[in-house]
Amino acid sequence: MTDTPTGGDVRLTGISKTYGSFTAVHPLDLTVPEGSFFALLGASGCGKTTTLRMIAGLEEPTTGTVLLGDRDVTDLPPHKRPVNTVFQSYALFPHLDVHENIAFGLRRRGVRSVRRQVDEMLELVQLGDKARHRPHQLSGGQQQRVAVARALINHPRVLLLDEPLGALDLKLRRRMQLELKRIQTEVGITFVHVTHDQEEAMTMADTVAVMNAGRVEQMGAPAELYDNPRTTFVANFLGTSNLIEAEVVEVGADVVATAGGGTLRLPADRCPAPVRAGGRLLVGIRPEKITLAHADDADAIPSGRNRTAGRIADTSFIGVSTQYAVDGPAGTGLQVYEQNIERDPRLVPGAEVVLHWNPAHTFGLDAAQDVE
Ligand code: ATP
Repeated sequence: MTDTPTGGDVRLTGISKTYGSFTAVHPLDLTVPEGSFFALLGASGCGKTTTLRMIAGLEEPTTGTVLLGDRDVTDLPPHKRPVNTVFQSYALFPHLDVHENIAFGLRRRGVRSVRRQVDEMLELVQLGDKARHRPHQLSGGQQQRVAVARALINHPRVLLLDEPLGALDLKLRRRMQLELKRIQTEVGITFVHVTHDQEEAMTMADTVAVMNAGRVEQMGAPAELYDNPRTTFVANFLGTSNLIEAEVVEVGADVVATAGGGTLRLPADRCPAPVRAGGRLLVGIRPEKITLAHADDADAIPSGRNRTAGRIADTSFIGVSTQYAVDGPAGTGLQVYEQNIERDPRLVPGAEVVLHWNPAHTFGLDAAQDVE
């Protein structure tokens, strides 16, 4: 995908990386907005770390240029670039205490009075009481905060984070996500964060670039990617999607399609271009946007809703919600998540149901794409 090559803090133009005959990153253009929390999200092996390492200067691009602000840094070695990287493996010095670990970059540059700056960093990462501890006396989350403070004390223009929370257990990981977001907001510099965890990217980032097989499939705000995915990969990677194969019957401000005898309507600007009558379309809807009605109550469904018939195959009660697996049109498996406010006791496996939802929540995808 292409992005405007101006106004960003990190601008990649035609950047690519090949190893022999294998292309890890296809030529990509990417602009990271200044002061934003930007996430590169994708499954293992999709090229996100390679992209980050090309920004850091740790990997030489096969083609393309890297700009930081207005400066072309493509040929600069890592230590001459205004960036710092935080890795998953903290890489703290075990023989130095927290204060000295954080002071390291300043001391190496010959800065004499480091105390005030280190204290500021300790306060920023809320480790003021741990200044004289050694890394082995800290929890994983605390060690990661030291690594962040050690990187930030050099006042980088951009902080690069390569799966920094990967080694933490789930609960601590969630806490550190909020903590890193708070630190980024406080210091106001650009963070570029690599993760394979879609929830992590959505929680932390202002802008997410979803990568697949060495390409950026889609980039945008988390809610935009979730509500309006442009590819089946993005639709399925960010949560669960129901994708119903349908035939387009009318194209106007709304696109009207049919599937299994039912009519589905969706805004034309949420469809892939071009859509034409008689063509095929994947109609997408998230499971929590659907309401489930017993077939006996179908007449009470308000008009103007999208609807499709099905039969409940399975139900799972998970406290706040119940998840229903429904056999939909032409054997399409559909998922519905219903909040457990008032549960209809008739909604059990085998029950005939009607799924209905607001057309505005519907998105369309190119039916020629492979459904993941
Ligand atoms: P992970 O989360 O597993 O690190 P990733 O999305 O960050 O995955 P990269 O580390 O960028 O993926 O790797 C992208 C692809 O390039 C992978 O298939 C990887 O095997 C390959 N690759 C990376 N470094 C090299 C190398 N030095 N030589 C050959 N292939 C490499």
